[in-house]
Amino acid sequence: MINAIATQCEGGPQMVRISKDQIIHTFAPNMTVVTEVEDGAIVLFEGNDCFTQQVRTERDALHTIDREQLNPATGPVYVRGAESGDLLKVDILAIDVADQGVIAVVPGEGILGKEVQEAIVRIVPIENGEAIFQGIRMPIQPMIGVIGVAPSDQDGPCPTDTPWKHGGNMDTRDIRRGSTLYFPVQQEGALFALGDCHALMADGEVCFTGLEIMADVTVKLSVVKKKTSTWPILEVEDSTMVIGSGVTLEKATEAAVSQMVACLAKAFNLMWEEAYMLASLAVDVRISQVVDPMVTVRAVVSKHLISTEKFLEQLM
Ligand code: CA
Ligand code: CA
Repeated sequence: MINAIATQCEGGPQMVRISKDQIIHTFAPNMTVVTEVEDGAIVLFEGNDCFTQQVRTERDALHTIDREQLNPATGPVYVRGAESGDLLKVDILAIDVADQGVIAVVPGEGILGKEVQEAIVRIVPIENGEAIFQGIRMPIQPMIGVIGVAPSDQDGPCPTDTPWKHGGNMDTRDIRRGSTLYFPVQQEGALFALGDCHALMADGEVCFTGLEIMADVTVKLSVVKKKTSTWPILEVEDSTMVIGSGVTLEKATEAAVSQMVACLAKAFNLMWEEAYMLASLAVDVRISQVVDPMVTVRAVVSKHLISTEKFLEQLM
């Protein structure tokens, strides 16, 4: 079922723009599709912030906002040719953020949530590529918090606030312009959506939010046939990462490292135990976030050890 809501942009028939009014709050195996694009299409997603713009001033009370409107993701888009058993390759071409973001603390939320007495909002202007928080200027590093595809029938529907094998709320700062993600396609067309951009966020996202902001995100969506992965794979300039999530940091680390070790064993023709040793020498485990319903880490291997191309060759 296709709704012709997306509009064609100038500059080619396959440059498609998806309105920020076209949103989901759950990544489900079956979703009503916004539009259908060709393999290789370039798509611009208008992204709402995680509050759907309900917090515009420091006087806006977090306890009065409509929680049903939290964490929207724009989409989903059906990519022609994507089938279960393939990967969806997502090249992040641009993240154009608005000129004002918001950060908040809420009692009970975040790693020190029990210390927080009341909800507090700070509005953070963006000027000349810098975020200005209480007079402190920091270069922005725009990133995408929620990004993913339809989950498997077995995993079932997953709210957009939760990360899992399909992606979702991974809140990983390396998901930024110039990065490439590979998602395991579980449903015909992949059904891709994204949202929850941050102008800036450090590893951990300790206070429960990043610098939440509206953004237009441009991606290229391509199908890699007959390759699959348990967890999302992320390529950046110098390294390849497996992004794992779980109920604890240990579980998330186990998930990411397990796939990394299996891949290294195949790539270097090592015993599994030797690959496990190699991971201990050469694979960094980095915390993505510790504040969502599942926490997220990434297992990171340098391209000096193995190219992303060779890494992907091990997937089947
Ligand atoms: Ca998030
Ligand atoms: Ca967020």
